[in-house]
Amino acid sequence: MFETSLARDPSEFARIFVHELFHFVWLRLGNPLRRSYEDLLAREIRGRARGELGWSAEWRKEKLSATDLRRRTRRWREYACESFCDTAAWIFAGVDHGEFTLLERFRRQRRDWFEASGVNRGISV
Ligand SMILES: [Zn+2]
Repeated sequence: MFETSLARDPSEFARIFVHELFHFVWLRLGNPLRRSYEDLLAREIRGRARGELGWSAEWRKEKLSATDLRRRTRRWREYACESFCDTAAWIFAGVDHGEFTLLERFRRQRRDWFEASGVNRGISV
């Protein structure tokens, strides 16, 4: 059972909890910061960055076309949201995971973006 296996795996619980929490953060982020994060992702893709920081973002990334990126389609915006949440989970849940496949230099840029954006300072749980 899903809940039982999560209870047995606190680190996976933490990762999923942070991911879900950041869905609310994304909604309240405002357009300038959302666009700024999308710009970061677009630069990564132009830089041929493979991988992601969670399967939720990764399978969406694999389905993206150049048109999705250019037109900021629904598929693109869903990818950006999932990438944001997976990246937050990677940063804040403090656990390692086999789904973390994004290269180190791109991970560093994601972490820098989160620090510069100040989103983590706006969260109180
Ligand atoms: Zn999600």
